[in-house]
Amino acid sequence: MTTPITFFNHLEDLDTESKYLVHKAKEATALAYAPYSKFCVGAALILEDGSVITGANQENASYPLCMCAERVALYAATATHPNQTILKIAVVAHKKNHKDLTPATCCGACRQVILEFEQRQKKPIEIIMFGTQNQWLKTTATALMPLGFGKESLE
Ligand SMILES: [Zn+2]
Repeated sequence: MTTPITFFNHLEDLDTESKYLVHKAKEATALAYAPYSKFCVGAALILEDGSVITGANQENASYPLCMCAERVALYAATATHPNQTILKIAVVAHKKNHKDLTPATCCGACRQVILEFEQRQKKPIEIIMFGTQNQWLKTTATALMPLGFGKESLE
């Protein structure tokens, strides 16, 4: 059994590909539409062919219609590269007009969606996030969603 979550004290401790995805996720925060929360989130994922797809949170005056950065990136990836396996996704956030990252982990809805992507492709997706202890962490949706609800639950 693999470790559910691996912690890293510094960004430099991550592998090169993960650091690159964090960089792309930071860039993507500039495309966040967050006039209400002022919480800018960026996500960047890499496919097995090396393509990198990014997303940023998109808010709406009708709050329940807001969409998280992770799901923007995941749905864009499957809509444009339907047969590609997603290897990793990095997620970062900062408050508007703040340069420094603020800790942010995937919400429950995104964990559920990533879990289904893992089940669809029959391969875990490495999730890279900046946690509340100012540590970087690597995990998977399967690790974050024990006893998760999935396709097999409906069979
Ligand atoms: Zn989310």
